[in-house]
Amino acid sequence: MDHLKTGFHPSAAGQGEASEMSEKNSHSHHDISVRSLAEFVFRRGDLFSQSGFVGPGRAMEGVRGHQRLQASRPPQYRSEVPLKWEEASQSLTLCVRGRIDGVMETPEGILLEEIKTTHKASIQEPSWLHLCQIRLYGALWIRKGETRPLLLQLTYYHLESGREQSFNVSEKTDVLEAFLKEAIDTYTQWLHLHEERCRQRDASLRSLEFPFPSMRHGQSEMIQKIEALQDHGGAMMVEAPTGIGKTMATLLPTLKALPHGKIAQCLIVSARGPGQRAFEGALQRLRDRGGKLRSITLTAQEKTCLLQGQSCDPNRCTRRVGYFDRLHPARIHALEKSIQHLSTEALQKLADEHDLCPHALGLDLAPWMDVLIGDYHYAFHPAASLDFIYGEEAPRMSPLALLVDEAHNLAERGREIHSQQLDTRSWVGPLEIIKKKDPQAAECLRALWRCWMETLRPRAEFREKSIPTVPSYQGDLFEHDFPAETQVQDPSHPLVGRQIDADQLLLNHFAEAWQLWMRRFLDRSETILSQDATFDGAASWVELYFEMHGCLKQLLVDSEEHCLILKKEGDHIRFHRYCIDPSKALARSWGRSWSTLFFSATLHPQNYHRRLLGLSDAARSLSLPSPFSPDQWRVWIHTGIETTYRRRAANHSKVVEAIHATLQSRQGHYLVFFPSYDYLDAIAECWQKAYPDAEGLLIRQKPVMSLKEREAFLAEFSHPDEKTKLGFALLGGIFGEGIDLVGAQLIGVMVVGVGLPQICLERDLIRDHFEHTEGCGFEFAYTFPGLNRVLQGVGRLIRSPSDQGIVLLMDARY
Ligand code: SF4
Repeated sequence: MDHLKTGFHPSAAGQGEASEMSEKNSHSHHDISVRSLAEFVFRRGDLFSQSGFVGPGRAMEGVRGHQRLQASRPPQYRSEVPLKWEEASQSLTLCVRGRIDGVMETPEGILLEEIKTTHKASIQEPSWLHLCQIRLYGALWIRKGETRPLLLQLTYYHLESGREQSFNVSEKTDVLEAFLKEAIDTYTQWLHLHEERCRQRDASLRSLEFPFPSMRHGQSEMIQKIEALQDHGGAMMVEAPTGIGKTMATLLPTLKALPHGKIAQCLIVSARGPGQRAFEGALQRLRDRGGKLRSITLTAQEKTCLLQGQSCDPNRCTRRVGYFDRLHPARIHALEKSIQHLSTEALQKLADEHDLCPHALGLDLAPWMDVLIGDYHYAFHPAASLDFIYGEEAPRMSPLALLVDEAHNLAERGREIHSQQLDTRSWVGPLEIIKKKDPQAAECLRALWRCWMETLRPRAEFREKSIPTVPSYQGDLFEHDFPAETQVQDPSHPLVGRQIDADQLLLNHFAEAWQLWMRRFLDRSETILSQDATFDGAASWVELYFEMHGCLKQLLVDSEEHCLILKKEGDHIRFHRYCIDPSKALARSWGRSWSTLFFSATLHPQNYHRRLLGLSDAARSLSLPSPFSPDQWRVWIHTGIETTYRRRAANHSKVVEAIHATLQSRQGHYLVFFPSYDYLDAIAECWQKAYPDAEGLLIRQKPVMSLKEREAFLAEFSHPDEKTKLGFALLGGIFGEGIDLVGAQLIGVMVVGVGLPQICLERDLIRDHFEHTEGCGFEFAYTFPGLNRVLQGVGRLIRSPSDQGIVLLMDARY
């Protein structure tokens, strides 16, 4: 999870939400909020200078605080008064908007009040940014034609005590005027630079042609359909088999839509690095043909951080100090110089030149890029840092074209993204710091630990269970004397009348007790961390806060899409808030883009993918036939091999024989995919025993491989030679999709088993859910994900019109 936020929300400020520029009319219109304008122009100082910590409930808490204070004011006090000012130049109009928290006529003049809520008991000095905001409001009020004296007041409202602390800001009219002018001039100057670049981009895109001599079969149909999608908006699913050239077929028509003004940016998300690199390559090809495009590859914080591979620790980093003082020159540098693609390396170089945090700089530059490339996380994680697209500041539909590559992976990744874990082991590190910093918060953790140690921990039979959504038992958690079973009485509950056993009652009651103590811990954490989250060890406390928050959300919200699983692991317990059905959460994210395109080589069966991606029946889809000939490959099915867990060991020698026989058919490179590492190792051992002379030709995937080791694995295949090579790899793993071994680099693929996920509590919960909702639970939980992996594995074989090869599927269930 990415908690690093720079605080500026360009959604309201920038090219996205509020920018309109049509092809015919070169005069553009931009909206910006007072807050965003103040942040863009006047923000100074350090990254994390406020506290760096904003809990998920903080926004709502702040709204309630505002309302309480406003309600306490005299009757003539007007709350949430809208203000706006439009400033037009030759090529653009900038509209500055805002809502002043309170306006009141007093004998001395007009009082304008800006309210800020805080957890700090006492404010020594008001924040510079807050002062800027109230000054901007004052200047906007003057532009309304106000001639009476203005009294500007900045009030801090302490959320715990309700105490207020006010600061009067007395400024002369001409000073306020000059202040607003400086803000508008600086921002407009920036917009001119940006727009000039966009004009050049648009001109280049209008004349940009398809960058290959001819289109492949299916490519032109795909391009036409995507043009229509970008024109009308909405969502579409495209199944385009390997060889059609889908990277360019999706990218070019999307970029061509930029000059029309319906979209302002394109966000491309992919499950893996190779997919992202394919788009980087396609963008470069378009640039080589004259496309003036700016792009950035968004990289995880730990990959760009100076502390290399660690979580952000502001106390050990100088790049945060004075970050906002140096940000604007770096922005100008990136815009003015000929940086076309900000790869991780280019971003680090730019950050080094300006002594800035690379990750924060990437997020600050992203709103001004034409194309953003990143992991699914950036589009679908609820805490994704792209606030300008999906943040609270951008509630309206974003003019964004979202391209989701390898969309067959999104449902499973969506489950991971929307699941959370809380493991009592993760308390050990922060506990010492919490004890020192706040004994009350430490006491909450101790109480949680006691509940666990005295109730579930001693029960030897307790291993893992999902928490039932039943009304809780009202007795004492430590009583241990639960009734053998009870009946659900609540008539509104879906399980009314059902018998619930003592185990379930205990679990449910345990969860209730935890809910109470978690809430207390989170409250204390919010109070402490909101005041200061930059002390030594604060990062681990913040991490624990968010883990616990995710877990509590499940305890409080009875969501059909999630379940809560408790697992005993030694002395510890792990809570797993598991997402059974990611469709609604995914649709909430992609539904805010102007257009969303899901594409992959395999989106079969379509109804399964539609359902899990949250697409309605009305969503458009396109399924293209493979451009390759069926004569290019032969498929053999060996049904004499049983690979179920129980029958597996008895069939090892048959698997080895089948692999050996396949190798005899033709010399060359083969990949064999297995459902697990244990299985892979067992067959490798049998292979070595049966064919000790052939041991040297075997290369094995390992559970953990460095980038170098992965490259070495692939390098064995990348030089086609006359020798036979045999690679054992994991089905659905890093070599099971996304690799491109063309021609003689790969002439055979063998798949052991049908790829079904391992039977476990989580999968069974998915099965039960989809059995209830769709009537085909086993297919959703096991069969379809399994066959997806098989199709991907097999898909490694034929990558070009001249490829030839063999597929061997081994399992009695084929
Ligand atoms: S460079 Fe690393 S430690 Fe420094 S502010 Fe950025 S993410 Fe944090």
